[in-house]
Amino acid sequence: MAEAKKIVILGGGYGGVWAGKILEKRFRKDSGVEITLIDRKPFHTLMTELHEVAGWRTEPESVQVHFKKIFGAKKIDVVLDEVVSVDFKGKKAVGKARSYDFDYIIVGAGAEPE
Ligand SMILES: Cc1cc2nc3c(=O)[nH]c(=O)nc-3n(C[C@H](O)[C@H](O)[C@H](O)COP(=O)(O)OP(=O)(O)OC[C@H]3O[C@@H](n4cnc5c(N)ncnc54)[C@H](O)[C@@H]3O)c2cc1C
Repeated sequence: MAEAKKIVILGGGYGGVWAGKILEKRFRKDSGVEITLIDRKPFHTLMTELHEVAGWRTEPESVQVHFKKIFGAKKIDVVLDEVVSVDFKGKKAVGKARSYDFDYIIVGAGAEPE
């Protein structure tokens, strides 16, 4: 049997979560596809609500949605790791904990607000 195609999604922001949901729906019943989402945090941050935290109108936890809640029972492996480099030629994402081979990668690492 052919080895499963590996799709790695780097980052669970709006882009990564959206991509994960679309791909999971598309490949849910396909055992030939493995999807892994890697984020340095165990939760998605509702960035567009961040100003509410800055303005002391809400608690930081209220803008955090755990990936377990988003992808809980779904066919998507969420990994907590920080990726330090991506070898696009060798198709390998190098994390602090381990490396991740991929056939396809979606880079959704975003930007850092000051
Ligand atoms: C206060 C504020 C308000 C905003 N309001 C709006 C708005 O009203 N409307 C609008 O359209 N846009 C708004 N934006 C912009 C919007 O939030 C960004 O455009 C959007 O978050 C980008 O999404 P993204 O998925 O590309 O990246 P992000 O949301 O930044 O997500 C990146 C993810 O990747 C992870 N990550 C990054 N590097 C690594 C790494 N090396 N290893 C592992 N994980 C990593 C991070 O932990 C994060 O979860 C706002 C931004 C801010 C800061």
